[in-house]
Amino acid sequence: MRFGTTLGSAGQDRSTWLVLLFLLLGVVAPTACVLWFMNDAATSQAESARQSVTEAYRGQLRLIRDRVDSYWETRATALAEQAGTPEDFSRMVKGGLADSLVYLHADGSPAYPSTAQAPSADPAADRTDWRIAQTLEEREHNIPGAIGAYAGIARLEPEASLAARAAQAHIRNLLRFGNRDAATAAILEYFAGGRLASATDLQGRIIAADEHLLALRLLARGDGRRPAVLQRLIGFLNDYRFPIPSVQRLFLMDEVLATGVKPETFPTYAAERLAAQLLEAEPVRPGAGLESTRVPDLWKLTAKGGRMVLLLRSASVMNSMRTWLKEPGFEVFPPAIKPRNEAIAAGPMLPGWQVAFTSQNDRLMEAASRRRTAYLWVGYVVVASMIIAGLLLGQTLRRQFRLARLKTDLVAAVSHELKTPLASMRLLVDSLLEDAELDPQKTRDYLALVAGENLRLTRLIENFLTFSRIERNRQRFEFTEAQPASIVQSAAGAVQERFQQAGCHFVVAADSSLPPIQADADALATVLVNLLDNAYKYTSGEKHIALRAFYESGSVVFAVADNGIGIPPREHKRIFRKFYQVDQRLARETGGCGLGLSIVDHIVRAHGGHVGVKSQPGEGSTFSVSLPSRRSDGRAAA
Ligand code: ADP
Repeated sequence: MRFGTTLGSAGQDRSTWLVLLFLLLGVVAPTACVLWFMNDAATSQAESARQSVTEAYRGQLRLIRDRVDSYWETRATALAEQAGTPEDFSRMVKGGLADSLVYLHADGSPAYPSTAQAPSADPAADRTDWRIAQTLEEREHNIPGAIGAYAGIARLEPEASLAARAAQAHIRNLLRFGNRDAATAAILEYFAGGRLASATDLQGRIIAADEHLLALRLLARGDGRRPAVLQRLIGFLNDYRFPIPSVQRLFLMDEVLATGVKPETFPTYAAERLAAQLLEAEPVRPGAGLESTRVPDLWKLTAKGGRMVLLLRSASVMNSMRTWLKEPGFEVFPPAIKPRNEAIAAGPMLPGWQVAFTSQNDRLMEAASRRRTAYLWVGYVVVASMIIAGLLLGQTLRRQFRLARLKTDLVAAVSHELKTPLASMRLLVDSLLEDAELDPQKTRDYLALVAGENLRLTRLIENFLTFSRIERNRQRFEFTEAQPASIVQSAAGAVQERFQQAGCHFVVAADSSLPPIQADADALATVLVNLLDNAYKYTSGEKHIALRAFYESGSVVFAVADNGIGIPPREHKRIFRKFYQVDQRLARETGGCGLGLSIVDHIVRAHGGHVGVKSQPGEGSTFSVSLPSRRSDGRAAA
């Protein structure tokens, strides 16, 4: 019977794996299936909810489309009431009603913003004073003369436009003459305010605005007059009551922006630029509904009556729809975007556009996915706690199994080991009883044999009892100050009778000067008797057994040496396991049950020491028990 291997670490590993396998099959796999079902159910629930919402929304989608269409219809109609002045342009743009717009004349040509105007007939052409000034400047290159002539007209001419043009020519000639300071002073004098401030030239441009830009260029950066000039120019450009043509306004705005002022200075700049971009790209004609333009991502909406064209970027259309609809979940998309959810074509006012539902569904899907994640987390936590509980349960079960097995093994070992000595004692007694006359010598011999078997039985039972106490944690030690020599003597005394037989040479060596140790002397004697017993059992033929006690590196060492069969090195650790035997057949013959060394190990550990073995097959064995000693002088004893 070889019990050791069944209780070894391999056996423990196997039972742990079995518990894990059981957990996997019994707990994890079903839970994973449940989780999968839950996940699947949550997904299909979300899907069916999405479908029913889609159904409900589909009907609403048509209503939304009609509302959107009538919104644009109404907007186009409402815009028809606009007068269409540059002031209206500024107001509409600043009010965020459009990204830009273009007012049209009755003939369909752009009124504001517009492309450059053709010059009108020159009223000065017939005037003698003007012609003289022109001749002086252009033919005779008499600049001082021209300066005087133009200055005269500018001062005396009652008609503002003509006076302003003369002033402009005066300034021009001052510059040609190289007199920058005089030119700057003249600009400020003529145009800083007064009657010439809003005079226009033949192309309808405000002369004062152009002259202010000129002054800005002439004035040095640090000149104290510069900020006022800049402010006045910005004022001109932002004041839509001034009839500045859009081309001039945009040009001047660009120039001013180039000097480094902030873009917010001109709230209408982007709208002016957008309109100019469109006017450059295509002739703006009145149309119907929201139509695409040649400018990418730009849409135009013609007001009823055809006099006003609203310009809108896709994002502005979508934003205005979002705020106006006030219906979360619906959105309007330009042709370039493909909505994620179901969409239908928008009405005739928005050709190519689509109406779709969005956010409601997204929110629904988000809620579903949140729910699914929560389910999964709950599942993970449940599985994890089941695994932990299962592991704890497995551990407890394993311990119970081990104990139950130990009990069975012990019962089997006890009954098996008791059988042999009992049988041989009965045999000896029976054969004595069979004799009619008792032969004194034979009787003595037989009784000696019976006594030997009895001793063996007693030791076996003692070992069983010690083992059982150890297993039940009932083994108590009584530590007292013990003399190593007396422990050696009591162990040697216990085996003496057997060891004194022929063929056995027993040596005992223990110095009485060895330091005392804290020990349970009886328990240590049991240890040595067990080791001596083994030495006797596992040595065949001539036996040489030695029991020694000596001092070595802070420890008292008890060594039991024999010249027996020896133990292979790979077995040196295993022999200390419970019920472990190297050779089962031999053990049966010698009458062991594999408990002796496990008891030895337990007792020595309880004393804070350790057992070692030196052995090779065929070369005998030496078992050493080292116990800590308090003596520090290192005196060795033989
Ligand atoms: P057993 O009751 O079988 O002797 P032990 O626990 O005392 O049990 O010893 C375990 C095993 O160790 C033995 O079965 C034997 O194989 C081996 N063993 C112990 N002492 C010796 C020894 N002195 N020489 C050879 N083998 C030994």
